[in-house]
Amino acid sequence: MLTRTLPVVLLVFLVGIAAFFLVYWATSEADRVTAARQYYLLEQSQAETLRAVPHQQESTTVWDDAVKAARAWDTGWLNNNLGTWMHEYYGYSDLYVLDPRNIPVLVYREKTGLESQMNPDIQALLAPMIERLRTRLRAGEQPKDPQFKTLGETAVALVDGSPSVISVKPIVPETNRFSQSAGNEYLHVAVLRLNEPRYLQGLERKYLFDHLRFSYEQDATGSESAYALISSSGKNIGYFIWQPYKPGSTVLAYISPMLVVLCVGLVMIVFTFMTLMNRRESTQSATEAKMRHIVLHDSLTGLPNRLQFNQRVDAELAQLDPAGESRLALLFLDLNGFKQINDSYGHALGDKLIYEFGRRLISLARPRDAVARVGSDEFTLMLSGIGSHEDVERMCRRLIELARMPYNIEGKQLFIGLSVGYAFAPDHGRDRDELLRKADVALYHAKMNGRNDFAGFDVEMDVLLRNRRRVETDLREALASQGQFQVYYQPVYRAADGSLIGFEALLRWHHPARGWISPEFFIPVAEETGLIGDLGQFVLQTACETAAQWGAQSIAVNVSAIELQDGDYVSKLAAILAKTGLPPARLELEVTETAVITEGNCQNNLKALRQMGIRLALDDFGTGFSSLGRLNQIDVDRIKIDKIFVRGVDRSDSDKAMVRAIVDLARATNLSTIAEGVENASQVAFLRSIGCDSFQGYYYSPAVPADQVPGLLSAARHPVIAGSSGAATAHDGELHE
Ligand code: C2E
Ligand code: CA
Ligand code: CA
Repeated sequence: MLTRTLPVVLLVFLVGIAAFFLVYWATSEADRVTAARQYYLLEQSQAETLRAVPHQQESTTVWDDAVKAARAWDTGWLNNNLGTWMHEYYGYSDLYVLDPRNIPVLVYREKTGLESQMNPDIQALLAPMIERLRTRLRAGEQPKDPQFKTLGETAVALVDGSPSVISVKPIVPETNRFSQSAGNEYLHVAVLRLNEPRYLQGLERKYLFDHLRFSYEQDATGSESAYALISSSGKNIGYFIWQPYKPGSTVLAYISPMLVVLCVGLVMIVFTFMTLMNRRESTQSATEAKMRHIVLHDSLTGLPNRLQFNQRVDAELAQLDPAGESRLALLFLDLNGFKQINDSYGHALGDKLIYEFGRRLISLARPRDAVARVGSDEFTLMLSGIGSHEDVERMCRRLIELARMPYNIEGKQLFIGLSVGYAFAPDHGRDRDELLRKADVALYHAKMNGRNDFAGFDVEMDVLLRNRRRVETDLREALASQGQFQVYYQPVYRAADGSLIGFEALLRWHHPARGWISPEFFIPVAEETGLIGDLGQFVLQTACETAAQWGAQSIAVNVSAIELQDGDYVSKLAAILAKTGLPPARLELEVTETAVITEGNCQNNLKALRQMGIRLALDDFGTGFSSLGRLNQIDVDRIKIDKIFVRGVDRSDSDKAMVRAIVDLARATNLSTIAEGVENASQVAFLRSIGCDSFQGYYYSPAVPADQVPGLLSAARHPVIAGSSGAATAHDGELHE
């Protein structure tokens, strides 16, 4: 910003200085001219004085009475009119009257008054002047200046040490009453001292000099002007010194503060203006930069967004070397269980987790790589300069490891999983969209394989994915038609005495063209598409109807968390119970951890269901994200130990320990336990030894169609077969996808 303001402000400043100097020059010029003029005036005043003295003398020297008095040596009269009077009136210091032989008739001196003798110095000074005058008079010379009536001699000289004007005039009659021989006139001498205060003050007044003084030396200070007084004999006899009038300086002194204020004001105005302009521009460019950032970044994590990612990928693809030596991998990342965390703890916490994961992701990426957040819990990663599948797989493992490290957010310790799918360029194409789509397909398969897994694209995957898309259409058709969906029932036995205590309803889908399709495959599709609601109602309706015809066995129905988010779920269920006549106490709903901890409708529904007397079982216990420690906070009747753990109890010590911990914990919190996926006798023996309450699994029976249930029930009444795989002869409802 300064880079632009500074030159402009500097320019204005320089213009200000230039203006100031111009004014200064103009005013000093005015001063110079004025000083020259005053000097000239002083010069004029001297000439003027030299003319004024004889002129004033003539007021008394051209006078009959004066001639008469002089000839009569009437000193008293002469003193009155040509002496004292002239001294008082004109300020002359010395006045003399001389007779034709130059003998003084009147001697008047300012300092001493009337005297009889003249000072010899003055006499010496006057002698040549008198001589000249009488000669000119005798010669009959007439005054050249019409202003004068008589001839006269004037001089400038030091008299008694004072610079003075000396003037000699003849005393002549004004009429013809007296005859006068030329050259023998009485003479009148007047001396005017030029350093007299009276004279100097007169000059000051008349010519407007300031502090005018006389000095024998040139001692004018820097601000004063001096005029050299030259005597008639050409000698420098002193100086007139004065304070010259400086109109320019006066003006300058008057206007310079205004000029400074004006200049400073101007600089300030320009500076403010420029600053405002710059600020506007910089906020404008800041806004633009912000806009650019918004357009290219994800607001939550600050990571690049899809747009920027696409740009990077396109640029990288364009440079891809045709030989295929170095390759490019596009990774699609999806967090597992994020939706549950979001639903359970709220979006604010979910956002923080996403942000934290974004940080981790960035820490792993190299500068050449590109990272982006492209969906709520979806990220993409471009790895450039990749050599082999192994490189990418190593990266995938690190990513998954990184994602699974615990997150400490708002005092909670959270865990989340990650699935990754990837595709290669140029192996899987050179088109960005095509590559991303293939990475997405691979991701989908990674998810299907099990959570926290990764997969590279494979042509077969495409086929499978297309199948999945078809599943949705087929599901809708199946719901609309009759007979494709059936409910199978898998018996549950009490560990203590092997009695058949209930069944779990499991949905079966027999596709007219593709045969049996696993619920593991179509239930998630139904959940994603919202078809789960209708599907769940169908299972509930069918299971309740069927179970109502049995004895006292309970019927367990799986309920998806998505279904429980429906505010009308409880009333719909109550309607089914009423219609089928099944007592609520015989119905058990199998819910997942997600449903139990998700606030809002889910929890309200569960509470209402329990109040109706319906029991709740926590399905797939141990696979969810919540820790075992939370068990006492969960309001259910039963825990189903997931088949993943049951499968391992006869092989792995850690699975044994896990199952034992679950059972102990459940007992401590007064919950009963059921082990699912029990497949052999050694599992039964272990589960029994640790006090598990009931069993379910192929060891006893797979899920069977409703028409085979009576057979199982009657077999159970004969405990001979209970605890054996006696039911294994029943139709194996296991599935073919
Ligand atoms: P689940 O609730 O954990 O159901 C138990 C699954 O284990 C069933 O698979 C059952 O056939 C299978 N199973 C039973 N005994 C054994 C055994 O000894 N060994 C092995 N390996 N597996 C055994 P199925 O029927 O394929 O169901 C898969 C999942 O689909 C269910 O898991 C459940 O989560 C979901 N599901 C099934 N029916 C429904 C339904 O009506 N509604 C909802 N929401 N989900 C359903
Ligand atoms: Ca279940
Ligand atoms: Ca289960």
